[in-house]
Amino acid sequence: MSEKTISWEFAPAPEDSRLAMIAKRYEHFIGGRWTPPSEGKYFQTRNPATARKLSEVAAGSAADIAKAVEAARLAFRGPWGNMPARERGKFLFRIARLMQERSRELAVTETLDGGKPIRESRDIDIPLAANHFFYYAGWADKLDYAFPNRRPRPLGVAGQIIPWNFPLLMAAWKIAPALACGNTVVLKPAETTPLTALKLAEILAEAGLPAGVVNIVTGAGATGAALVEHDDVDKVAFTGSTAVGKVIQKTLAGTGKKCTLELGGKAANIVLEDACIDQAVEGIVNGIYLNQGHVCCAGSRLFVQEPVYEEVLWKLKRRLDTLVVGDPLDKNTDIGAINSREQLTSIRHYLKVGLEEGAAIYQPDCQLPSRGYFCPPTLFTEVAQSFTIAREEIFGPVLAVQTFRTLSEVIEKANNTPYGLSAGVWCDKGARLFQVTDALDAGVVWGNSYNNFDPTSPFGGCKESGFGREGGLHGLAAYLDI
Ligand code: NAP
Ligand code: MG
Repeated sequence: MSEKTISWEFAPAPEDSRLAMIAKRYEHFIGGRWTPPSEGKYFQTRNPATARKLSEVAAGSAADIAKAVEAARLAFRGPWGNMPARERGKFLFRIARLMQERSRELAVTETLDGGKPIRESRDIDIPLAANHFFYYAGWADKLDYAFPNRRPRPLGVAGQIIPWNFPLLMAAWKIAPALACGNTVVLKPAETTPLTALKLAEILAEAGLPAGVVNIVTGAGATGAALVEHDDVDKVAFTGSTAVGKVIQKTLAGTGKKCTLELGGKAANIVLEDACIDQAVEGIVNGIYLNQGHVCCAGSRLFVQEPVYEEVLWKLKRRLDTLVVGDPLDKNTDIGAINSREQLTSIRHYLKVGLEEGAAIYQPDCQLPSRGYFCPPTLFTEVAQSFTIAREEIFGPVLAVQTFRTLSEVIEKANNTPYGLSAGVWCDKGARLFQVTDALDAGVVWGNSYNNFDPTSPFGGCKESGFGREGGLHGLAAYLDI
């Protein structure tokens, strides 16, 4: 008899794509104006669920970056720099409210441009992005209380570069604290997901934010590099891969510019024998499969204590059988589209390597859409520490499972990675939970939960996952001279 769980077919419940109201073409947003690219070049942004073009977007050159940095400098010396902090805070509140008003449009746009399920963009990305503006709005006129006797001062012009996995949320993480502290900004969104950042530019204009306070220049890696290399940028904030982070750190060495790097991860999710197994299985699914594994802090290495290994594995497989992979706009979808063809190719490469190295693969039989870029949820067992799939960041819905007997063994295995962004521990006994969490080298450790975010709580990594924190008070410090 098949072990497959009986599951129900849901009737399709797609969100209306017309709600996104995407223009045919977008220019850069520089000095408060929509500015055509100096070289006259545009690139396409596509919907990864259909591989169809959504819009074309200005390709930024070094000249465009220079124009944007100049506009940001003028705004810093002028209206923004001279504005009382309380007034600055009001702008942030206004932006947050306008994001809420346009939340449905933003959610549909995010899903169309990036491929993530509408449930995720609607319930997580957009509300959290607005909450970051609300949270930092409150701090704008209280910086002296946040850092008593430190005379906090803004740094000046911040150059910010963000990846494609949380396009609007990453823009909010970067822009909100920078503005609350009195800085001005030049932001470079990711090439495959520029649209919500451009809609945010519309919102900034609607909020009446003075010209040049936030400038958005779209483009590829070279556009980001031009921003990092520009002499008049005081601070670089980067979220992306460890490889690019290292290049940026080399470029900035000796320049005196401030820098924060939020880079890759290979998080351990650890299930101890006394954990509530059903809850842990949900946490494992949430940690790696929802959002296609496109999460830097994804729990991509699962460690299960031997006595409960069979039970966890059985329940996890049955849960995978019920996950709905498909149209990201459908409200029933759990796993949407992989962000780009390149990313899908990279994930498939790792699947092949995993099999070649001798791991056992499990994928539920699910019907993938015939168009677009999709990958079924994948589980590898019989994995050794040395396997590529247990060491390298895959950035897809792929989990590598290992077992352990003692706490010291799992702590050693979990820490045996160049990364140190996040981790999760599932355990019924508080003392044991803290014994493990304290011993893990990771910036963020979740206990009996996973992938929980809050604007008040700092996020960031150690080792090759970068340095600096975003969110909370720590997130303010990154944009201040104290
Ligand atoms: P990526 O290639 O490093 O790209 C990130 C951003 O940097 C993009 O806007 C990219 O432009 C730009 N870029 C590329 N080359 C550059 C260069 N030489 N100089 C300056 N900017 C450059 O990373 P990705 O593959 O898009 O994103 C996935 C990675 O981000 C994963 O490793 C993930 O773990 C990490 N991530 C980390 C966090 C965190 O908080 N720690 C959060 C999210 C993602 P293009 O779009 O044109 O490539
Ligand atoms: Mg796209």
